Amino acid sequence: MAENIVHLVLARIEGAPAGTKGISLFVAPKFIVNDDGSVGERNGVSCGSIEHKMGIHGNATCVVNYDGAKGWLIGQENRGLNAMFVMMNEARLAAGVAGLSQSEVAYQNAVACAKDRLQGRSLTGAKFPDKPADPIIVHPDVRRTLLSIKAFNEAARALVVWTALKSDIAHRSSDEAERQSADDHMGLMTPVVKGVLTDLGFANAVKAQQMFGGHGYIEEWGMSQFVRDARITQIYEGANGIQAMDLVGRKLGKDGGRAIMGFFNEVGAFCQENAGDDTLKGFIAPLQEGLSHLQQATMWFMQNAMAKPDNAGAGATDFMHLFGLVAMGYMWAKMAKVAHSKKQQGNGVAEKMDAKLLTGRFFMERLMPETASRLACIQAGSDTIMEMPTHLF
Ligand SMILES: Cc1cc2nc3c(=O)[nH]c(=O)nc-3n(C[C@H](O)[C@H](O)[C@H](O)COP(=O)(O)OP(=O)(O)OC[C@H]3O[C@@H](n4cnc5c(N)ncnc54)[C@H](O)[C@@H]3O)c2cc1C
Repeated sequence: MAENIVHLVLARIEGAPAGTKGISLFVAPKFIVNDDGSVGERNGVSCGSIEHKMGIHGNATCVVNYDGAKGWLIGQENRGLNAMFVMMNEARLAAGVAGLSQSEVAYQNAVACAKDRLQGRSLTGAKFPDKPADPIIVHPDVRRTLLSIKAFNEAARALVVWTALKSDIAHRSSDEAERQSADDHMGLMTPVVKGVLTDLGFANAVKAQQMFGGHGYIEEWGMSQFVRDARITQIYEGANGIQAMDLVGRKLGKDGGRAIMGFFNEVGAFCQENAGDDTLKGFIAPLQEGLSHLQQATMWFMQNAMAKPDNAGAGATDFMHLFGLVAMGYMWAKMAKVAHSKKQQGNGVAEKMDAKLLTGRFFMERLMPETASRLACIQAGSDTIMEMPTHLF
């Protein structure tokens, strides 16, 4: 389909140091490019086999063999991983967006099914007495499931847009302090967007599949494809356990904790400014509590993980999800503020804004409380995890 295929390849130069410090980046084309830019003879690059994958079947993942292939070094010797990270940071954000996308498309299908599928009667009496049964969207458990996906999708979308704006600022602002603070945000938020949006993207694809009952398990309905496709986002571009370690092990302490302090200050200032706003009552208190849990967890790591690094490893995934909840809670509080002001302006958006506020309240009541259990898990430390002898697993 293309005149040439150009591969970016991580490889080791003979005699290079062991491990990641000895990896270099090369460009290796399928066809050697002549001096005049035309496509020349075949390089020793070939496809060894196409992988048989669980999902993303539209993407042909393959084993690539390099047999005496020519490659050209990019950047410095042994600094390949640093060069690759320029691409990988972007790819991690894109994986997060892919997780969210699977959650959204699965949700839209689940809503259509919940309005259509007739099964059982509402607990408070028939809502559609003329029909043989009510549509399943009348059932509280179905609504709870759909709202938990919707509340995540809308907050995660806001988080992605906020981070995209920060990316523009980090690249384009003329103010150095602003550029630095936006860059801090990008570093801190990249593992959160990747890890949280893909873990929940997959979990939500499964929840949406559940709304189809038995048909969710039948290929014809398409829900199983969302589950299979969402699953890879948790694995590639660095498995989510690695994202959590990146957040706790590298990003928290970087530059003396400047990035996380910036986040605490921003969310804390928002809570203070809006504490007296009655319309935001259901938003500010839970956000403040979640922020306090995140601050306590950060403090706990500072006091307990330096001398005992297993404590950081044992709590990293909980911390990543705790962070995600607070970041999304902050998005909801900001969205609620805008929704209230838009509602007052009229112009026919009141119903939509009411839906926004209800969804936000659901997030605060039903999803934010998880920050407490995440904190408790972190503070439980690593003892029981590490005490189990390997042969007894
Ligand atoms: C469809 C597909 C496409 C891919 N495309 C590419 C590509 O284009 N380019 C490319 O370079 N790679 C690609 N990969 C590879 C992919 O990025 C890796 O498979 C992925 O990052 C996980 O690494 P791994 O397989 O080495 O797992 P491992 O590193 O073996 O990890 C296995 C498990 O152990 C955990 N783990 C490992 N080390 C630690 C640690 N120190 N602390 C805590 N937990 C740990 C991980 O979280 C994971 O759950 C692709 C993979 C797939 C499946």
